[in-house]
Amino acid sequence: MVGVVLALLATPALADEAADIHARVLTLDTHIDIPADYATPKHDPGVRGDMQVDLPKLAEGKLDAGFFIVYVGQGPETPEGYADAYRQAIGKFDAIHRQAGQYPGKVEMAWSPADVERIVASGKIASCIGVENLYPAGPDTSKIEEFYRRGARYMSLTHSGDNHLADSANLLGQLDQPSQETHRGLTEMGFAAIAEMNRLGVMIDVSHSSEATTLQAIEASTAPVIASHSALRGVYDIPRNLSDEALKALAARGGVVQVVAFDSYLRPPAPEKVAATKALREELGLTSAAAWKAITDEQRKTYMARLKQLHARYGRATVSDLADHIDHAVTLVGIDHVGIASDFGGGGGIGGWEDASETGNVTAELVRRGYGEADIAKLWSGNLLRVWRAVESAAGLQVAAP
Ligand SMILES: [Zn+2]
Repeated sequence: MVGVVLALLATPALADEAADIHARVLTLDTHIDIPADYATPKHDPGVRGDMQVDLPKLAEGKLDAGFFIVYVGQGPETPEGYADAYRQAIGKFDAIHRQAGQYPGKVEMAWSPADVERIVASGKIASCIGVENLYPAGPDTSKIEEFYRRGARYMSLTHSGDNHLADSANLLGQLDQPSQETHRGLTEMGFAAIAEMNRLGVMIDVSHSSEATTLQAIEASTAPVIASHSALRGVYDIPRNLSDEALKALAARGGVVQVVAFDSYLRPPAPEKVAATKALREELGLTSAAAWKAITDEQRKTYMARLKQLHARYGRATVSDLADHIDHAVTLVGIDHVGIASDFGGGGGIGGWEDASETGNVTAELVRRGYGEADIAKLWSGNLLRVWRAVESAAGLQVAAP
């Protein structure tokens, strides 16, 4: 696929220009999922292995910075459910810190936009933390501050499935089905969570939120809001994607959408592929949220290998589809409100950007479409870092000038 993409660059000169731009701009991916045993001998990020992101692939793809994700799927809203989710979340915080501890010469934790720039300038990978789903914080708002102190600098309200804070875009575990909109947007606890994130200087992430939640969060927040990994309904109309109205509201308040390289958010799959994927999940017993949670390494490997066969047979979104969504967002709200995310490790990965080593292909596609270096720098990190600074500043934190 690399060859296919590079072949699209009309001249070798253009390919060289793209490679030069890619090497110069600060590239930041806002959504990299990790397994629970990340940074253990089983999933050692220092070794080029079968994860889509590891330190060798980041270096090869010149991907300079990333938000590694503390993701916990939605579970029951009970004391036991919250306690279990909290335990899982802390495990992931620990794993991300462990990576930096194990490879201090290659990666360093970043707590601020200034940190990101300093660390990348020093030749290391800047490791940031995002929380996907505030379910593990439970009804106790003080957990949000604890997560902040553990390094989280953005937090999303929901994953799929409505929770105690807000309605999700989707029914639990069904990314193609709209949620039942239990609360018609944010709950009282959801508004309190937003106020707490504003106070601390945490970016509020509306990816996975329902339309009502998204609009209410943008309105309630005193600082700009992000969508850390979302595509656009204006190109492909599914509940999980950001509507034009929501994108305009987000941009009007200074926020940014990080357009995500996720096959099934970017374009409608062939009906045969949908049927074959469903049959595969049934064959492997992966038909419930509980089954996905209990998935073994062996099952995951089989599933991923078979899924790859389906992609080969029925096709898959490519960097060109990703750029179509970027183009749409830029046309609608301007270059200052758009960024890029992979969702590697969480279902992301498309033709031409299958893993972190292929990150240069995204820049190549942008160059091919006529984006200049200044715009590409904004898409790859400038906009996100600007929003992060604005969120810090609104919280009254000391912010170094860019
Ligand atoms: Zn996600």
